[in-house]
Amino acid sequence: MAALPNISNIREMQAWSDHARREGKRIVLVPTMGFLHEGHLSLVRQGRQKGDRLVVSIFANPAQFAPTEDFDNYPRDLERDIRLLAEERVDLLFNPTAEEIYPAGYQTYVDVDQVSQPLCGAHRPGHFRGVATVVLKLFNIVRPHAAVFGLKDYQQLQVIRRMTEDLNVDVEIVACPTVREPDGLAMSSRNRYLTPVERDAALCLQSALGKAEALVVGGETAAQRIREAVVEEISRQPLARLEYADLRDPRELCPVEEVKGPTLLALCAWVGKARLIDNRILAGEGP
Ligand code: AMP
Repeated sequence: MAALPNISNIREMQAWSDHARREGKRIVLVPTMGFLHEGHLSLVRQGRQKGDRLVVSIFANPAQFAPTEDFDNYPRDLERDIRLLAEERVDLLFNPTAEEIYPAGYQTYVDVDQVSQPLCGAHRPGHFRGVATVVLKLFNIVRPHAAVFGLKDYQQLQVIRRMTEDLNVDVEIVACPTVREPDGLAMSSRNRYLTPVERDAALCLQSALGKAEALVVGGETAAQRIREAVVEEISRQPLARLEYADLRDPRELCPVEEVKGPTLLALCAWVGKARLIDNRILAGEGP
């Protein structure tokens, strides 16, 4: 099996990147929390196209989990992750400890104001503050020229885009389409929490997005009516509990009343212990 070079120390990581930059190499970072699946690997493959040195980080970031959330139980399998990344010929794994990233006395956080507020932000207070903070830290540690993120976490992508724009961070943000199971369920590390019956029930997210799409294709423009159809579709599945379904501007994430152009439909539902998110851009392409 191919070996995978591995760094967990910040100074060593910075020195590695400085060396690569001095050699004129373009560094690409794919940040993850581990327990890798094909969605992550699609980002890795896209990242490979975007530069000469591919770094994947694995860091389950405590700052983006509330005390009541699943940080302690978040699935982990570092050995398997290393094997998958070695097979993809990743150049380096960066997997720091929580103490390395947040040493005693740590007190600086990044707040991206408006795009962090609705959708997941409204239900997970502090979540995007944790995300923006760790991503900016990873950018300062890995010093990439480009970083790759999945459209599955749509709001996260907009938060990161806004942060890099507002803070003049010189990193190209690359977005990758959502990778799905053959039956349409968006791949997620949290799918691991689903029992077989719940796994079937989870397909209601996909069918709700499909319903909305069909309405828009059929000429419906009223966000309220599209949302109602989504809510109804989820409520037909007794094992699912809707957290939110919302139509928003795809860049600013402000509410939309009429679907006149590309519009984000973002959806979150609990199925058993799994909090599942999915989204689709209706009536066109996203930003
Ligand atoms: P995570 O490990 O869940 O923090 O995800 C790391 C990166 O992988 C994020 O940019 C996610 O948006 C992306 N990602 C997760 N699941 C998928 C998927 N099914 N398709 C595409 N990208 C994904």
